[in-house]
Amino acid sequence: METKEKMRKSEDEWRRELTPEQYHILREKGTERAFTGEYAHSKGNGAYLCAACGQELFSSDTKYDSGSGWPSFYEPAAPERVDNHEDNAHGMRRVEVTCSRCGSHLGHVFPDGPRPTGLRYCINSASLKLEPKK
Ligand code: FE
Repeated sequence: METKEKMRKSEDEWRRELTPEQYHILREKGTERAFTGEYAHSKGNGAYLCAACGQELFSSDTKYDSGSGWPSFYEPAAPERVDNHEDNAHGMRRVEVTCSRCGSHLGHVFPDGPRPTGLRYCINSASLKLEPKK
């Protein structure tokens, strides 16, 4: 089995590298307000990278408009790029999604997505960086 290369940085390092909003969302599991994020309605072609470590997380090919106000994808760029975690915060049972390389918070995954997966990866724009296709 392939061993994943992990990126470990101190919270001080992350704080220096990220904007305050990115730090709050990526490192403190924050959530941006619906319909306010840069990529909520973006339709550009390319790869959505982790805003913290640059790992490719999602492709624009799997992005769709869920009406939620957050960028939504029906699958990750590869299964091993994201990790799922049970999240019972705020009185809800949800599945949190983090970047498998750096552990940063991305958003949540819900079982109400479109075909072919039936999944909705509901991701904060602040956790992503779109690298346009050349
Ligand atoms: Fe990352």
